[in-house]
Amino acid sequence: MSFASLTHAEEEGFWNLWFSELHKGNVGMTYKVKRILYSGQSRFQRIDVLDTHEYGRMLVLYGSVMISDRDDFVYPEMIAHVPYYAHAGARSALVIGGGDGLAVGEFLKHPSIERIVIVDIDEMVIEKCKEFFPRSKAAFSDPKVEVHFADGAEFVKSRDERFDIIIVDGADPIPPADVLFHRQFHENCREILNTGGIFVSQTESPFYNPDVIKEVYTSLGEIFRIAMPYVAWIPTYPSALWSFAFCSDTRHPLEQFDRDRCLSEEIETRYYNADIHAASFALPTFIRELI
Ligand code: SAM
Repeated sequence: MSFASLTHAEEEGFWNLWFSELHKGNVGMTYKVKRILYSGQSRFQRIDVLDTHEYGRMLVLYGSVMISDRDDFVYPEMIAHVPYYAHAGARSALVIGGGDGLAVGEFLKHPSIERIVIVDIDEMVIEKCKEFFPRSKAAFSDPKVEVHFADGAEFVKSRDERFDIIIVDGADPIPPADVLFHRQFHENCREILNTGGIFVSQTESPFYNPDVIKEVYTSLGEIFRIAMPYVAWIPTYPSALWSFAFCSDTRHPLEQFDRDRCLSEEIETRYYNADIHAASFALPTFIRELI
C-alpha cells in the first residue's frame, strides 16, 4: 500500500514540487518534479504522469510508481525473458495487467512469439501510456498484440484458448489487483497453460511484503510442480529489491534454461542477460526462509 503526496518545498528561495511515495506510511521515496504532465482518476485508480528531474517521465497509479524512463527496462525484461528462455519454444503469451505495454514490448523482441494477448482492467492506463510513453505506443500498435479491457481474474475463467507463457504484471495486492494474488486465479491460469507452459507473477518486495510472498507460495507451491522465486533490482520500487514467481509443471528455469539460444539471439536488453538469468534465482537467506 502506498501513500503519496505532492508537496511544495522552499529551496534556495524557489518553490519546488516533490512527489513522495510512502511505503506502509512510514518510509518512502521522494522525487523532485519538473512538471505534472497528467493527473486524473479512472474508474479504478488515480493516474498521474510526472516529469521528474532524476527519473524522467514516471507513471504513478494510486500513488505508486509503476514505470519511469530511467529504470523501466529492468522489470519488463525480467518478467518476459526469464520464462521465454526457459520455455522449449513459446509461440503465445498472455499478459495480465501490464497496461504500460513494456512487457508486451519485450515479448515482441522474439520473432517466434506469434501472438500476445494483454488483459488490463483499466483502459485509461493504456490510453495515457500510449499518449506519454512512446515505447508503450509502439507495443500496443503491433499486429501480434490483442488488447482486452477486463478483470484478469474473470478473463482466465473457462477460456478456450491456451497459452505457452502467462505473466501477471499486476499492481500491488489491493483492489483491483488483489484478485491476481488469489489461489483460484492461479488455478485458472494453470488450466489455460499449454503443456510445457510457464506462469510468472510479480510477487512484491521480499523486504517490505514478506507476508505476501509467504501466502502466494502456499498456493503456487501446491498448484505447480515447480514454483521458484527470482529477484531483480528496481530502484523506484520499495526497497529496490523486487521478486517474481516462476511456475511450471515441466520446465525448470535453470536446468532447462536455453543458454545457447539466449546467447545466440542477442536480443537488445539493458538488464537481462544469460548470467543474470541464472543469478536472479540465487536468493538471500531471508528470502529462502519465506518459501
Ligand atoms: N510493473 C508494475 C508493478 O509491478 O507494480 C505494474 C505495471 S502495470 C501498470 C499494473 C497494471 O495492472 C495496471 O495497468 C492496472 O490497471 C492493472 N490491473 C490491476 N488490477 C487488475 C486486474 N484485476 N485485472 C487486470 N489488470 C489489472
